[in-house]
Formats: sequence, structure tokens, C-alpha cells
Amino acid sequence: MKKKGLSELGEFGLIERIRSQVGTTSSLRLGIGDDCSIQTIDGSLEILTSTDLLIEGVHFNLSWTDLTQLGRKSVAVNVSDIAAMGGTPRSLYLGIAVPPNLSIEDLDLFIHGFVSAAKEYGAVLAGGDTCRSSGPLIISVTVQGEVRQGRGVTRSGADSGDLVFVSGSLGDSALALKLLQDGEQPAAELAERHHCPQARVSLGCRLAESGLASAMIDVSDGLVADLGHLITASAKGAIVQLEKIPLSPFFQNSLPGHLERMELALTGGEDYELLFTSAAQNERNIEQLADELNLSLSCIGKINDDGGLQVLQEDGSLYPYRHSGFDHFSK
Ligand code: ADP
Ligand code: MG
Repeated sequence: MKKKGLSELGEFGLIERIRSQVGTTSSLRLGIGDDCSIQTIDGSLEILTSTDLLIEGVHFNLSWTDLTQLGRKSVAVNVSDIAAMGGTPRSLYLGIAVPPNLSIEDLDLFIHGFVSAAKEYGAVLAGGDTCRSSGPLIISVTVQGEVRQGRGVTRSGADSGDLVFVSGSLGDSALALKLLQDGEQPAAELAERHHCPQARVSLGCRLAESGLASAMIDVSDGLVADLGHLITASAKGAIVQLEKIPLSPFFQNSLPGHLERMELALTGGEDYELLFTSAAQNERNIEQLADELNLSLSCIGKINDDGGLQVLQEDGSLYPYRHSGFDHFSK
């Protein structure tokens, strides 16, 4: 009998297959399935843990990636998962498999970027593992953070009628990557969004402390996929208004003659913005928070009971996006 390929299962089918074989322990309040696990350590604090891989040729291409920026990005994409739970990052662990062609200078640049970004987020590199790679450069980062007991915001708390908000703007990272792949040079600000994303730690903490967010996730796989994860975990549906999706001036300027690029804002991924839901009565408080943090927080849609995600255009018709988001095993 022919063996099933991973592409038939997909990335999330594979994770579900792993999850179904795992038990739990009493101190593990939340295991596989959210941005971080949650472990209770005492009566007041909980530990958040998350891990991510970055592999040369899959997540980054060294021909257009600066090693210092890669070090910074390796921290930011992990810290972003702590932010997505409303936590504060504390320690990082770095596993690195180094190919023979990487020089000591390159490695120094990477570590410099890693350590300086960790410091900016208030975290410290506390351990790891180093070995030789016979293939690509492989970076595995684990991050631990903390959150006050019971304050961690999961993906599963969205309720019908809640509004859907997203921070910053979407699509810049994917657009920069597309231009690089096409051999074009993106504007510096666009390239920065791809090479040096910022984890929204302050926003996540404020949302968790205030109790304003009912559910939250960071946008790593694209809005459609990540809102999909959030509504699946919450057993709800959602409607998103296409014209409300926040776009940077650089993204908007690239649209004339390339309207298909709008899809990058929906499904492109690697934005590392926070996507969260909040009861409709909190809209004023969210606007106030946006002012205080000097960060745009856009209301892009609403949670409903219908199940599934619909992206509507201004005339009320469905927006026909082709991809659903990033899946490592999709065909
Ligand atoms: P994120 O995009 O927030 O990093 P992922 O989509 O990578 O999250 O993973 C979804 C969930 O599945 C997370 O809770 C993650 O810890 C878990 N997960 C992913 N891969 C594995 C694995 N190989 N073993 C156990 N859990 C996994
Ligand atoms: Mg995440």
C-alpha cells in the first residue's frame, strides 16, 4: 500500500496527529495548540513557553539576508508568541546547527543581533545547543516568558459579537519577500518589515493586564490562516471587511497595476502583528490604548456563530483569495 505523504495531512493535520498522542500533567494548564504553553508555577505567575525553527532555504535566504538582522528576527518571531499570550519575555534558548561555509565573523554578527534584540525585549540568552550541519543553517529558538496567573490570553476566548482588531499594518513583509524573490529591491522601510519584524510585547501586556482581549494570536502565517486558527479554537466564525485591513503607505503605493497584491495582506504571513478580539463595548478603550501606545489598532471585522471566515468587499461580495495562508506541507 502506498504510504501517505505529509502534503495530504498538511502542517496542521500533522500537529493534530502529534497532539492526539500526548497526555498532560497537572501543572500544564495549556499544551499544544496555542501560541505558547502555560505552566502554573505558584499562585501568582504562570510560565509561557514557545519554540520556533528557522531554516536556511525554508525561512530565509542568506543571499539577501544580513546575519545581524537574522539574529534579531530569530528573537522577534519567538518573542512574538509570548506577546500573543500577553506575557513578558524572560529567557531564550538557542539551538544552532552551523554549516561549514559559515564564517566565525558571520556567526558573531548573528549572535550580536540575537543578543542585542533579546536585551531590547528584556530577555536574556540563557542556554542552547550548538552542532555542525551537513546541510543548511538551522536555528531553533525557545522562549520563556511570564504572565500573571489567569491573565494569559489564549486563542479560544472569542465570543459572538466581539470585534476583531489587528495592530499596525499587514502585508509589508510578504510584499518585500515577493519583490526580493522577483529580483527587485524593496523600499528600505518595506525590507525592514521583512528582515526585522517587531514583536508587539507592550501591546500584548496591556491587553492581558486590562482584560480587554477575549482571544489573541500573532499574525505569523497570514491574517486568513491565523484568524482561522483563532475562530477554530473559539468554535466561532468571523467576517472581515477587506477595506478595513490596515495597509502601510508603501503597500498602498505598490497596488496600482498590481491589485492581486492585496492577497499578500490577507495570506502573506510574517507580519508579527497582534490579532485580537474584544467585546464591542470596549471599542473606545481600544482606541485610547492605541493612542497611548502610538500604535494603530484597526477594527477589521466581527466574530459570529456561523463558523468559517468570510472576507467581504465593500459591495458586500466575497473576496476570492486563492491561498489560505502559509502551510509548510501544502502542495
Ligand atoms: P505559531 O505559529 O504560533 O508558532 P504553530 O502554528 O507553529 O504556532 O503551532 C501550533 C501549535 O502546535 C503550537 O501550540 C505549537 O507549540 C504546537 N506544535 C507545532 N509543532 C509541534 C510538534 N512538532 N510537537 C508538538 N507540538 C507542536
Ligand atoms: Mg503564534
